[in-house]
Amino acid sequence: MGSADSTATESFVMMPSIIFTKLFINGEFVDSVSGKTFETIDPRNGEVIAKIAEGDKEDVDLAVKAARAAFDHGPWPRMPGSERAKIMMKLADLIEENLEELAALDSLDAGKLFSLGKAMDIPDIIGVIRYYAGAADKIHGSTLKMSREFQAYTLLEPMGVVGHIVPWNFPAMMFFIKVSPALAAGCTMVVKPAEQTPLSALYYAHLAKLAGVPDGVLNVVTGFGPTAGAAISSHMDVDMVSFTGSLEVGREIMKAAAASNLKPVALELGGKSPLIIFDDADLDMASDLALLGSLFNKGEICVASSRVLVQEGIYDEFVKKLAEKAKAWPVGDPFDPQVRQGPQVDKAQFDKILSYIEHGKREGATLLTGGKPIDKKKGYYIEPTIFTDVKDDMLIIKDEIFGPVTALMKFKTIEEAIKSANNTKYGLAAGIVTKSLDVANTVSRSIRAGSIWINCYFGFDKDCPFGGYKMSGFGKDFGADGLHKYLHTKSVVTPIYNSPWL
Ligand code: NAD
Repeated sequence: MGSADSTATESFVMMPSIIFTKLFINGEFVDSVSGKTFETIDPRNGEVIAKIAEGDKEDVDLAVKAARAAFDHGPWPRMPGSERAKIMMKLADLIEENLEELAALDSLDAGKLFSLGKAMDIPDIIGVIRYYAGAADKIHGSTLKMSREFQAYTLLEPMGVVGHIVPWNFPAMMFFIKVSPALAAGCTMVVKPAEQTPLSALYYAHLAKLAGVPDGVLNVVTGFGPTAGAAISSHMDVDMVSFTGSLEVGREIMKAAAASNLKPVALELGGKSPLIIFDDADLDMASDLALLGSLFNKGEICVASSRVLVQEGIYDEFVKKLAEKAKAWPVGDPFDPQVRQGPQVDKAQFDKILSYIEHGKREGATLLTGGKPIDKKKGYYIEPTIFTDVKDDMLIIKDEIFGPVTALMKFKTIEEAIKSANNTKYGLAAGIVTKSLDVANTVSRSIRAGSIWINCYFGFDKDCPFGGYKMSGFGKDFGADGLHKYLHTKSVVTPIYNSPWL
């Protein structure tokens, strides 16, 4: 396992400068009304990176007022989609020009791998912005021939002022998976980034202004969930809330929406996704997928394969292979190109993961690898941790841990695998590893989850809708579905006199 020495970072990369620390409201960077700030922390060492303006209800009111005015009277919802597209394309270009700086900001703030940020996170968001820019001038309804006397057409209109509340695990993607389709649809918005990772969102607001997004269209209020976040979800002048985060907070947001103006909500929540490996699987490929599925982004990913179900014929050999690979998985400074796993995002997350590990041990699960913090004083690093001998009623198999911890379980038959895979309140994703097309087809249709990945894992694409079943939420991101949730459908009906046609 690699070391967690963070002293040599500067030899890997130029550290980003922290330029933007204030709220972005109506096209300007401003202090919070209260003047309060909060600290954002470097998870490699627990040191303060910067003090950020702490937005509260009064700041949300100002941001919503700006977004309301921009929606009701501004050019954004009224301009041709092709004009919005041009501005969005310019934004994507500006992000591309600042790619390294933006990748470094998220590595510093969230402990994410800088190499992946450069190669994946930031190029992916550029792709998402361009994808939805391409859709902005193709938003149209349909013509309906109702009868000889009436015809109708539908108009797709922007939802209005949208509140986006996002988590910290993929700060760039969470921002643009919501902001890009909403911009394309002609909405205006207030974004609340997670309090753990406010830095890049403020940079994006700056670039959006440079690209030509009119003042008031995109506002960013940094701050905490129960204050700034709750002020958005309960606001009478916010027309919709799009949320990604935990099940518990999703519930609060739905309650607040119901108790205020009954605004629609889209909820992308947690998961406890199974990776099901059948006897005929290629063991190398299966163990690589299990490792990646469990440890990618330090396990801080909603679709982590936190339950690995392995058929009995290959179980022992698979366990041996996975353990060898997990022990060789390099953990350390996220700026080091050799490292595959950085620190957990903050102390609270670090403590939560370790307490789940202790719980698993107490409940009688066996530690195959890991289970301990690494070099605790310097940052929030945890060993890649795999449990065996896990039972259905254990907390580590029921709860989303959101860390580099996975549980292995053995099954005999396909029916048993399906039952076990569905034995969760969540339904976000599942992976299947088999050479049999019949098995893959049967299992993919039997699992109640929004994404099924056959002989692959994390099969994301901007064109492929993503979202949950069951308590993983509702309302898709990505693809045409990701755009349509920001649009209302209006029916317009008109009589036809003396129609020559049926
Ligand atoms: P979280 O729910 O604690 O916080 C998410 C956001 O909600 C943050 O911005 C936070 O400030 C805000 N918030 C907190 N309390 C609030 C309240 N009362 N009202 C309004 N907003 C409030 O989640 P997290 O710890 O930041 O992220 C981890 C969770 O997110 C995990 O459960 C993970 O599975 C989930 N997640 C889901 C997806 C998905 O696409 N389904 C993607 C990433 C993360």
